[in-house]
Amino acid sequence: MVIEKGGEVIPKVVSVVRDQRNRREGAFKFPECCPVCREKIVRLTQEANWRCVNTSCPAQLKGAILHFASRPAMDIEGFGDILVDQLVDTGLVKRFDDIYRLKKQVLAKLERMAEKSAQNLVRSIEQSKDRDFTRVLYGLGIPNIGVNCANILVNVFGSIESMINAEVEEYEKINGIGNVIAESIRSYFKSRDNLEMINELKKIGLHFTSGRKHDRINSLRGKTFVFTGELSSVNRSEVQAVVRKYGGHPGTTISKKTDYLVYGSKTGSKYKRAKKLGIKVLSEQEFFDLIKKGRLL
Ligand SMILES: [Zn+2]
Repeated sequence: MVIEKGGEVIPKVVSVVRDQRNRREGAFKFPECCPVCREKIVRLTQEANWRCVNTSCPAQLKGAILHFASRPAMDIEGFGDILVDQLVDTGLVKRFDDIYRLKKQVLAKLERMAEKSAQNLVRSIEQSKDRDFTRVLYGLGIPNIGVNCANILVNVFGSIESMINAEVEEYEKINGIGNVIAESIRSYFKSRDNLEMINELKKIGLHFTSGRKHDRINSLRGKTFVFTGELSSVNRSEVQAVVRKYGGHPGTTISKKTDYLVYGSKTGSKYKRAKKLGIKVLSEQEFFDLIKKGRLL
């Protein structure tokens, strides 16, 4: 076989060199088990990749921890390959919540670790508790959930409870979330292990809501919102549901009774009319910030 780098990284078979064959090869048998933990591998619907889905597989766990601690996620300084290998191999970390139970004295005994570096590590672990819900959600490593997607989900749902309780159809309705992602989220929350871990992380103090819940619940109280243009994170019916959820009224036309006009891209006559009537206008982001802050401008 001739193999080259596909997309710069992944090995790709370019051609087969038939005259190198000697009739003893036999058909290629795709592996049925993970090479590290020997568990059966599975293929998710509509995906080309086969994966090891054994959450206690050491190889899976190491990758998951590196992702969790990475800069766009929990940003835990000092969480590199060598440390993660040791933490998993010694059994000190079996799940993300174990990271927050690591003690300085234990870390100091690891290879290439001294009192001082152990102390720094404990401090960066502690600091990571401040990361916002979007980073936490991204850090969980739910398959197919990138940073952008995590951001959309946080804007729409606001809390992990709302996400856990939502039906798969509610996910599919959201702009930018297809049925592959919806299915992936659903199967993640179906796992009791995952729910248990989220619960532990919550107790430890990680953020699983985008703001203080009680302030948010009526943050649009009594106000009328009209939307114009294309919104990037949610579609029209979705955003109207959001308005109702936070106690506001979604309107369709601009009048003196309109309190806010929220605009996306490609705005038209509504925007001009709102400006003329002196109605407050908000960008899409300002609108979601308003809900998060829990108070009206
Ligand atoms: Zn495995």
